[in-house]
Amino acid sequence: MSFKSLGLSEPILKAIQKKGYETPSPIQAKAIPPVLEGKDVLASAQTGTGKTAGFTLPLLHNLSTSGSEQRHRPIRALVLTPTRELAAQVHANVKEYSEFLNIRSTVIFGGVNQKPQVNKLSQGIDVLVATPGRLLDLESQGLLSLKHVEIFVLDEADRMLDMGFLRDIERVMKLIPKKRQNLMFSATFSKDIKKLAYSILNNPVQVEATPENTAVEVIEQKVYRVAKGKKTGLIIKLISEGDWKQVLVFTRTKHGANNLCKKMISAGITAAAIHGNKSQGARTKALAGFKNGSIRVLVATDIAARGLDIPLLPHVINFELPNISEDYVHRIGRTGRAGASGQAISLVSADETTFLRDIQKLIGMKIEVEIVEGFEPDPNASTEPIKPGQNRNQGRGRGSNSRNSGKPKSSSSDRNKSKSRSRSNDSRR
Ligand code: ADP
Ligand code: MG
Repeated sequence: MSFKSLGLSEPILKAIQKKGYETPSPIQAKAIPPVLEGKDVLASAQTGTGKTAGFTLPLLHNLSTSGSEQRHRPIRALVLTPTRELAAQVHANVKEYSEFLNIRSTVIFGGVNQKPQVNKLSQGIDVLVATPGRLLDLESQGLLSLKHVEIFVLDEADRMLDMGFLRDIERVMKLIPKKRQNLMFSATFSKDIKKLAYSILNNPVQVEATPENTAVEVIEQKVYRVAKGKKTGLIIKLISEGDWKQVLVFTRTKHGANNLCKKMISAGITAAAIHGNKSQGARTKALAGFKNGSIRVLVATDIAARGLDIPLLPHVINFELPNISEDYVHRIGRTGRAGASGQAISLVSADETTFLRDIQKLIGMKIEVEIVEGFEPDPNASTEPIKPGQNRNQGRGRGSNSRNSGKPKSSSSDRNKSKSRSRSNDSRR
């Protein structure tokens, strides 16, 4: 499967190539064809599976090939996203993918002066990415018109609902023409999403990429309870004694990744670290060494590992648990697959107790716990959780953990939903 075979135009293929994508992700392969055909599409796939390009690429194709003759460019495509970070991120993608097209785009969101946004809009914009509040605000001031929208996209629809944007969405719908193409993308596929889809979409094609969490059941998962200060000793012991060859280790911070990497090397284990502060060249080199076996241990942060083409591995170790449970599923998804054996190990100190509890809730199972002699947990250590963003010179923009605590509890049967709590503010890409 290639992007070309999906029927995207040359200028778009060129932008994709420049971006470095080689093949469409599963959700892209499923969603792009019906969008190109002009159909309404409801697409759901886990976070991080490339949904943005799934609607942006065919949207740009449709706009650029149907060419509006109007001299004054009206807004022809409207993409609604729940947060300003997501809006900015989606717009950045739109810009990259439309680099070789005669398409103009901009982004509007609240919390900042509207003037520059209004100026931009007045120049004529084909694609507008917006958060609902600012959009409605500017529209009511007569500063933009949605009367010529041909394609309407609701991105991160589940998150929109979670954030209480239903009314706003309905108000926006009244401002755009009845005859249009509607696209709805969501990480989860809940009852509420289906209901919303029913009210917005017209005879939609429904596509879904298999959630990765089915993999969770076939991966052997283990937790080692250990004192924080003894983690390095324990991980070196496990890797050496187990004679593990290809081990992917996750740390929470870049600093932690560097540190651990150095200690591995001193212990005679070939290792390399990849994270956001490493140059692309250094990352490529580390990854190549890891793949060809000259590097035994790759130490990575979530940010760096995401989007990296790392093969399925026999061993994944969480040197620290992620504070976002969903990352756990992503991390351990790097190992095992039906049939193949894979082991996911987590070193858990007292201050990660809450994270472990959240993870177990998300995956719907208890993970087996072990303690290694000489590496016992510290009975006096505080169970006060590590603050997200702590030790991070550059946060992942996930904001505070209030999202974890401030959200209504979802029932265990609705675990996809809790997964979606999300990367709304995710600036890491
Ligand atoms: P989602 O909206 O599903 O959470 P995104 O659209 O934000 O996911 O994409 C997640 C990451 O994957 C981004 O860094 C994006 O650049 C990258 N990506 C998207 N499509 C591809 C592809 N076909 N090949 C490689 N990387 C991709
Ligand atoms: Mg998305």
